[in-house]
Amino acid sequence: MKRAARPRLVCDVPGCGNGRRPGYRLCDRCTARLPEEISVGIVAAHDERRWLDHAALKRRAARFLNLDTTDCPSTLAQPVRRHSPTVSPQRAYELQARMLGERTDA
Ligand SMILES: [Zn+2]
Repeated sequence: MKRAARPRLVCDVPGCGNGRRPGYRLCDRCTARLPEEISVGIVAAHDERRWLDHAALKRRAARFLNLDTTDCPSTLAQPVRRHSPTVSPQRAYELQARMLGERTDA
């Protein structure tokens, strides 16, 4: 029985969204850009139904391609915490003085 509309095959790399060819796990672009260790690893993990490895490798692939920022937020995107609750204002002053070279004992 043939289905009228086949689901579009999408590249395994989260956030990529490119189509992939039947029989392949990744799109041509990701295959070309990823190190073999990851691209081959994804295929092998999928074939061998090692789903945890498969998921981990997909995350690595996304990180490698800078597509996934959910579990590796850019430090530049983080709001600067000016008043860390673990550092008292006095301690902060001492640390700043040390950074400025005004004190060496803090
Ligand atoms: Zn892709």
